[in-house]
Amino acid sequence: MKKHFALAVTVALASTLGAVGTAAAQAGGVSDPDEPIVFTEASEVIGAAAADGRVRGFIYTGEPADVVIAGGTPGSRILYLNNCKGETTSTGAAGCRVTRGGSNNSTTNTSSIAGGNLAAYTGSDTTWNSIVNCVRQTYAPFGITITTTNPGTAPHYEAMAAGTPTQVGFSNGVAGVAPFSCGIINNAITFSFLNLNPSDVNDACWTIAQESAHAFGLSHEMLAADPMTYISNPPSKRFQNQSACIGTQGCCQPQQECQCGQTMQNSYQRLLDIFGPSNPTPPTIVIETPLANSQVTPGFVVRATVTDDQGVDNVQLLIDGAAIATLQSPPFAFNAPPTLTMGTHMVTIRAYDSNGSEGTATISVIVGDPCNDNDDCSAQGADLVCVDGRCVPGANTPGGLGSTCNAPTECISGLCATKDDENRCVESCDIAADACPDGFDCLSNGAGGGLCWPGGGGCLGCSTDGSPEPTLPIGAGLLLAAVLVRRRRRNRA
Ligand SMILES: [Zn+2]
Repeated sequence: MKKHFALAVTVALASTLGAVGTAAAQAGGVSDPDEPIVFTEASEVIGAAAADGRVRGFIYTGEPADVVIAGGTPGSRILYLNNCKGETTSTGAAGCRVTRGGSNNSTTNTSSIAGGNLAAYTGSDTTWNSIVNCVRQTYAPFGITITTTNPGTAPHYEAMAAGTPTQVGFSNGVAGVAPFSCGIINNAITFSFLNLNPSDVNDACWTIAQESAHAFGLSHEMLAADPMTYISNPPSKRFQNQSACIGTQGCCQPQQECQCGQTMQNSYQRLLDIFGPSNPTPPTIVIETPLANSQVTPGFVVRATVTDDQGVDNVQLLIDGAAIATLQSPPFAFNAPPTLTMGTHMVTIRAYDSNGSEGTATISVIVGDPCNDNDDCSAQGADLVCVDGRCVPGANTPGGLGSTCNAPTECISGLCATKDDENRCVESCDIAADACPDGFDCLSNGAGGGLCWPGGGGCLGCSTDGSPEPTLPIGAGLLLAAVLVRRRRRNRA
């Protein structure tokens, strides 16, 4: 892990903090924006290094802080996570150009504690998205929005999450640094030097959460599950609604940790006092199939459209309140258990966004007789076709029967098969009944079952000259024998 610094400047403390006072004095004038300021680690780090060998300290800037009391109003409710990929340094490289000035101004990239060219984050976009989600979850209880969209000239707190400490004036022992003044520093920029360890999501999340909270006036505390701690384990941390000793090495250890006047801190309540509770925006859910109060066939399909401004984390199907299955990505389509009894059942889709906000939608349906043909399915929803008495999504639905696929996860059935260099979503079928819809044949899967494949003959798993050629459903691992089953019109009437 890395070190966090919160630079807290109080004039009264400058004398006791020695070199920190010097830093504060330097902060009074604007220097060459491209010249890194140099802090020696000993002068700024409050407390010893964490178990990972790095320090998450803070620097007292001495600037006036807007100390927010309970019920007060912060200068902004936006925390901008900036990985500096979208900005340019003075050399034209991707990164943030930070100007050292007398105060903090996130709208002009001015910092009272740091200056220089901070290189863009070197991790992948996938890892970055995971880090952003983690920070969102960490701040989810509070009335502050975590965004990766630059707010421009609108007031905002900014967490630069990029580069290395030496690029803006700190030693490599510093994982993060923030200005600190026992209260809120509006428009503050905090620094989390993610390129020291760009692939560790929990580590980055911990550093960003701690540094950003330092700018809100939060101190270090001796609670391992809280991001304000120096204790490495557990690696996943959230603000805890629990009073804990302030300090990094023990209660008020070292003594400077308690210079804001308190000896205990409840980070959760403190943030709640500042920002108030969050206003949850649960996912929006529309159950497309089946239609409410419709008669459905055994094993019926449930399709839902789920959207959320913060991103959908997962979507669950429940029948009569019992969880059946969970999906992490679209298409959000499920098969109900084929064993449901005839009669009325409650179908619920429950979805969570990346902040953990929950949304639900429920309809009731009546399980009736199996379908005999596509017409029997039309009452349940659009583009449904009859396979073995079940109504399943057809080729006009993404992931439906006969649609093209590259992986089983793209198919609602979870089956993607290959024939004649085409990959298509298939459904299991009963060969003896040849129970595929019009336009499909039930071809053997070589393992005693069948798969519905589009159109006029041929065989699944045969080469073009008719000789057997084992193939397999993509990802399914089952060899397909080249057995063509002649399609018979199915009739259960
Ligand atoms: Zn810290």
